[in-house]
Amino acid sequence: MQELMKKAQILVEALPYIQKFFGKTVVIKYGGNAMINDELKNSVMEDITLLKYIGMNPVVIHGGGPEINKALTTFGIESNFIDGLRVTDEQTMQVAQMVLVGKTNKEVVSLLNQKGGKAIGLCGIDGNLIECEKYLPLVNGVPTDIGFVGKVTNINTKLIEMLAEDGLIPVIAPIGVGANGESFNINADTVAGDIAVALKAEKLILLTDIEGVKLSVTSEEILSELTIEDVKSHIDSGVISGGMIPKVLGCVEAIEGGVNKVHIIDGRQPHCLLLEIFTKHGIGTLFTA
Ligand code: ADP
Ligand code: MG
Repeated sequence: MQELMKKAQILVEALPYIQKFFGKTVVIKYGGNAMINDELKNSVMEDITLLKYIGMNPVVIHGGGPEINKALTTFGIESNFIDGLRVTDEQTMQVAQMVLVGKTNKEVVSLLNQKGGKAIGLCGIDGNLIECEKYLPLVNGVPTDIGFVGKVTNINTKLIEMLAEDGLIPVIAPIGVGANGESFNINADTVAGDIAVALKAEKLILLTDIEGVKLSVTSEEILSELTIEDVKSHIDSGVISGGMIPKVLGCVEAIEGGVNKVHIIDGRQPHCLLLEIFTKHGIGTLFTA
């Protein structure tokens, strides 16, 4: 009986959060590197399905870096990164699209469906969901061509809203479409930030393979709160590097674009989404203006 009462208590404690987030959009980026084993994937999918069934509106963006690297190796194509962005020639683009759309996207959709969620997979080409142009990142201050890497110019939010309203969970692969129908590879964190802003999401949560943003990758301590100013200085000083750069920049963009709560959390922690959304203190790094 006591055990049952405890369960009832836990549900009641979640009530204020369920009320607060009812009908609200939560954009979730599930990375690449955090998709480490089936057990974890299952726990993330359970959390997302639960969010949908209690009346929230989850929209999932996935990455797929490690899978793309594996496929590129199989095809004998080298992987190169500049500031966390993949240098993407035509062949790399084709492989990235094959893996992200053909494999990773369907895997996430299938896992959500197995949990009882009604998921639908899309990439930015479908319905012109993610329109973009070539992105020229600044490398040592110089705008640099790194191939088919896109910068989002427009998100067709209507498509996502239509699906979500129909009870579906949109699962989006980070591929954009250019003005001439060409595919662009876009960092999934960047896309997640853009989509959160376009959807006027309540929350953006980026799941990754580290506890949160830290002063050094090996430090035990995480920075539980970061301002936009902190982010800029930590990038300049080199504290934030590699794949963490597009991640924190996606967070900054979301904050500046009006998303209420923006977090980077540890996707390796089972049920990290529930811990973040339904507990007072939350986990990981919270971004503020
Ligand atoms: P994901 O697949 O989740 O996008 P990435 O490898 O692209 O993962 O980015 C997360 C990685 O960023 C971490 O595993 C870590 O090695 C690296 N990183 C760089 N700087 C930091 C920092 N200051 N705090 C935490 N992680 C950092
Ligand atoms: Mg990354």
